[in-house]
Amino acid sequence: MGHNCTVSPPVLQPLWDHVRLQQRWAVQSPAFPVLLSLSGYLAFSLPFAAADLLALRLPGFPGWKMQRWRPGPRPMARCLGRALCNHLLFVLPAVGLKGWWDPSAPPPAAAPTLCQLLAGVLSCLLVFDLQYYIWHVVHHRDRRLYRAVHATHHRYTAPFSWATQQLGPWELLTVGFWSSTTPLLLKVHPLTSWVFMVSSVWLSVEDHIGYDLPWGLHRLVPGGLLGGAPAHDLHHQDPNTNFAPFFTHLDRAFGTAYSDHTHLRPGSLQ
Ligand SMILES: [Zn+2]
Ligand SMILES: [Zn+2]
Repeated sequence: MGHNCTVSPPVLQPLWDHVRLQQRWAVQSPAFPVLLSLSGYLAFSLPFAAADLLALRLPGFPGWKMQRWRPGPRPMARCLGRALCNHLLFVLPAVGLKGWWDPSAPPPAAAPTLCQLLAGVLSCLLVFDLQYYIWHVVHHRDRRLYRAVHATHHRYTAPFSWATQQLGPWELLTVGFWSSTTPLLLKVHPLTSWVFMVSSVWLSVEDHIGYDLPWGLHRLVPGGLLGGAPAHDLHHQDPNTNFAPFFTHLDRAFGTAYSDHTHLRPGSLQ
């Protein structure tokens, strides 16, 4: 695949040239990936927050909702406030530290081919999926770690889009660390790493929207390879199942997959 990848047409070169030459700050700044992820979280979550607030007036949405409880403005504001505070107090200093310790190298002149970009994004997602799976199992098995680090994320048994970033600072920093080091580990192009970051934010938000959408990625990707909202919704209801954030192969291999949607609770406890 590597050989075929290098000979596919350079469709991304004009875009990369523009970014590299006109938006130099973006390529060089360690804050850019964080800005990208944070704005992805805000942009992807907003339509589903609107869907939650207007559910009865949007066709289809009430039927796709997996649990009866719908968040009002208060839990939404709480999650959003937490996400912004975490970024201000923890992520920003971490980014500053990284910029000071590891000034970025000059960007490469050549863009990745489309094939290299897609293969790179998929590889990064698979590695991240494995890293988070292991971390997630450990943080559920060890009660002290669970209470100290991961319990914050389980505040809501009925997830909603803003709850994606209902995270304690340690979990957010861990996830941020993997998101920024996995592309370096796999030596992918900066453009590939940005697409990976936005894709992982999208998949994480989709995990938490609380709707089993007919156009959800878990339905579009064949073979049940992606867990999507139904799998992660079940994790929030029954936390000993569905530990992987994106794909289903690890939960299937280690016997932690669960897809029985018939037991869904009529409503959650909040
Ligand atoms: Zn979750
Ligand atoms: Zn969990």
